[in-house]
Amino acid sequence: MTPTVVISRRGADRVRAGHPWIYQSDILEAEVESGDLVRVREERRRGIGWGLWSSQSQIALRMMVVGSSGSLGSEKDEIDERALFESRLRQAIDYRATLAIDGTACRLVHGEADRLPALIVDKYGDASGEYLVVQTLCQGMDRRATLIVELLREIVRPRGVLARNDPKVRRLEGLDERVDLLAGEIPETVAVREGDVTFQADLRRGQKTGLFLDQRENHVVAASCAAGRALDAFTYNGGFALHLARRCSSVVALDSSEAAVALTRANAAANGLTNLEAREANVFDELRELEASGEHFDTIVLDPPAFAKNRAAVGRALAGYKEINLRALRLLASGGHLITCSCSYHVDESTFVAVVTDAALDARVTVTLVEKRTQARDHPVLVGVPETHYVKCLVLRKLG
Ligand code: SAH
Repeated sequence: MTPTVVISRRGADRVRAGHPWIYQSDILEAEVESGDLVRVREERRRGIGWGLWSSQSQIALRMMVVGSSGSLGSEKDEIDERALFESRLRQAIDYRATLAIDGTACRLVHGEADRLPALIVDKYGDASGEYLVVQTLCQGMDRRATLIVELLREIVRPRGVLARNDPKVRRLEGLDERVDLLAGEIPETVAVREGDVTFQADLRRGQKTGLFLDQRENHVVAASCAAGRALDAFTYNGGFALHLARRCSSVVALDSSEAAVALTRANAAANGLTNLEAREANVFDELRELEASGEHFDTIVLDPPAFAKNRAAVGRALAGYKEINLRALRLLASGGHLITCSCSYHVDESTFVAVVTDAALDARVTVTLVEKRTQARDHPVLVGVPETHYVKCLVLRKLG
């Protein structure tokens, strides 16, 4: 018998409004196993689609098929899992091919926005050798890792596939945190070109899956308005700093992680950039000190880690965003640009704009909003699902 889950009217309405998640509290009947791809039905009504079941997470169901999608129609009693996964993966990968990405790393699958919930696939390397990094972040995806890797090998023909299943969110699914080589080989580092700079990415140990691919387009935009003396706070491996160094007379790059500072220095040297100075520092302290010593910068980038990891942390996060933006606006020279980012899911764009506006008022400076940006196009936002619009990036200009 096809495993079936019956959900409440409220849960069904949520799905009909375009959201793929159904919470535990909306589950009425479920005689299913963890990780099953189940038929989802509203009480006393017909099927509304198919979703992946989680026995542990508050997000009990992640919808994969909603409404009638041709041969994958919601009314059917059977579903061809392999065909569904193959079709979803091919659509996701074909879309990236249309983006004409000026670089050799990109996200091929971005979870919910590719209707492959809780699945991440990033590609590193060029035609001479491509490597995939996969994250299966819910029970259903984790159970299908073998099928997913088999299909990816058929479609992409990579030299190696690595599972970076070390994000903490897996705990919510009762899944352990681990890194496994799933196929072929993965070198110690992979050279990744992004526009006219090259980074060395460590796929096994680097943050995320090796690089912050979601900021690729913002790196280029920041460089396009950069000039003079630049500051890249929260640099990681020099993501913004390397691009800025091509345009600016000098760049100071800060990060609290010693390993990140070492990566930035190595990347600068490999790109022949001698005008970049990477320093290990806490940005909060360093901004205060730079201000006290009367320093000024013509270009400043703020790209902190997500300050609000959950709803309860939003208040403190907003105070943190305000502080660094206030200090950066004071340090900014007239006519200079501030590129300021937030990647907290729980801080929406209008809230972030309000915090930055507040910072400008407190700093007694006049700024214009040059551009509002988001994550790179290979990390699509799913309309109706605010959680998928996580990167906010504002380009501001300080008037004299
Ligand atoms: N801008 C980078 C990504 C930055 S990720 C890019 O485009 O690729 C955020 C970075 O901030 C991490 O490398 C982390 O080590 C660093 N970080 C976190 N808290 C910090 C702090 N208080 N001071 C300085 N760096 C910090």
